[in-house]
Amino acid sequence: MGVITAKFGGSSVADAAQIRKTKGIVMSDPARRYVVVSGPGKRSKQDEKITDLFYKYQRLVIGSAERNAAAVFSVIEQRFTGLEKELGVCVDIESALAKVAADLRAGANADYAASRGEFLNARIIAALYGYDFVDAAGLVLFGADGAFLAEETNAALAAELAKHERAVMPGFYGTMPDGSLKTFSRGGSDVTGALVARAVCADVYENWTDVSGFLMADPRVVENPRPVPVISYREQRELSSMGASVLHEDAVTPARMAGIPINIRNTNAPDDAGTMITCGDAPGMRGISGKKGYTALRVYKNAAGGGAHLLAPIFAAATRHGITPDFALSAVDAATLYFADGADAVPVEAAFEEELAEMNIEDVKTTGGITLIAVVGGGVGSDPDVAAKVSGALAEAGITPCGACFSVSETNIIVGVADQEYETALRALYAKLA
Ligand code: ASP
Repeated sequence: MGVITAKFGGSSVADAAQIRKTKGIVMSDPARRYVVVSGPGKRSKQDEKITDLFYKYQRLVIGSAERNAAAVFSVIEQRFTGLEKELGVCVDIESALAKVAADLRAGANADYAASRGEFLNARIIAALYGYDFVDAAGLVLFGADGAFLAEETNAALAAELAKHERAVMPGFYGTMPDGSLKTFSRGGSDVTGALVARAVCADVYENWTDVSGFLMADPRVVENPRPVPVISYREQRELSSMGASVLHEDAVTPARMAGIPINIRNTNAPDDAGTMITCGDAPGMRGISGKKGYTALRVYKNAAGGGAHLLAPIFAAATRHGITPDFALSAVDAATLYFADGADAVPVEAAFEEELAEMNIEDVKTTGGITLIAVVGGGVGSDPDVAAKVSGALAEAGITPCGACFSVSETNIIVGVADQEYETALRALYAKLA
């Protein structure tokens, strides 16, 4: 019998009905022996995630806003006692909640607060499945500087999980050397799932969420985009970095290291095959995704001695300002760097003023409002046909690319358009390439 690690995200474990669905999924294949769960997520658009409620409670408690804190805690309490009752399990959730409240009143930090959603949910779900509950504390390990300790964690998890035929573990958090808890960044239960998959040498890491895997383009822009049945680790990272994110970005590395495929599945449509993320790139387009709001910084200096001489000092300055570029291109005497994510909030040119003056740069030009669109897939970076289709699709749609059309790897071609033309460009590219 193979071994499957299944991770269920917040929407899959948001209420009793959803949790029952996860039980059906887990019980339908005896290989699903190790399960990692998120805290209860939103039950509707207006609802609040338990993680957010715990953060809120902790802030109110340290701010001595007792009455407001009590109101928030009662919402948390109702959700967990409701789950215990509706699922018909008995884990004394009341006492566990009382301990959490006492710890937080005694000054436990925000990471401890946030981790409790996963902790309490995993206890309930383990009881419902009849699986062992294994706490992540003491197994998922961080160093004194807060850095995640991959090898130590793998050894600790492997040794502990070998003692359990079947187990449910809370995602999202681990332990610091002083015994305090620390969380990964938001969405981090995906990471824990991958760590468990690696530690138990799973045949597959199933990541159960509320979509049936990757789609070739954003369904809010392109009507009925085709699903992506298979994608490589590398291709999915490229698409995720350009906005098509289904998985926490740190979740890929542990699975990739161990050569474990990741299967993105839909708890609400368990018969859908979802997307399989595997090692090898296979030829063909996998998806198109764009990210708005880039600012391009172009510099020119006669006889600069090669683009690298321009790029190196600009990189050093950018790092000092904490605005590392996502893309950098250079040619003789010229360089263009693309800054994303709020970089346009800091006027990019102003951030470099001093350095650029010292470098005796002749021309500096910044252009904001650029969307970079990545066409991703095995071999697209060196396929002249794809490059021709990208230019053709944009020309036919009456769009002039703004900035470069370039390829930085075998698996991508990137083109810039004005932010307001993104949706039209994406539809045109999808129609031509998919
Ligand atoms: N509950 C955490 C969050 O809301 C972690 C997770 O769900 O993966 O970010």
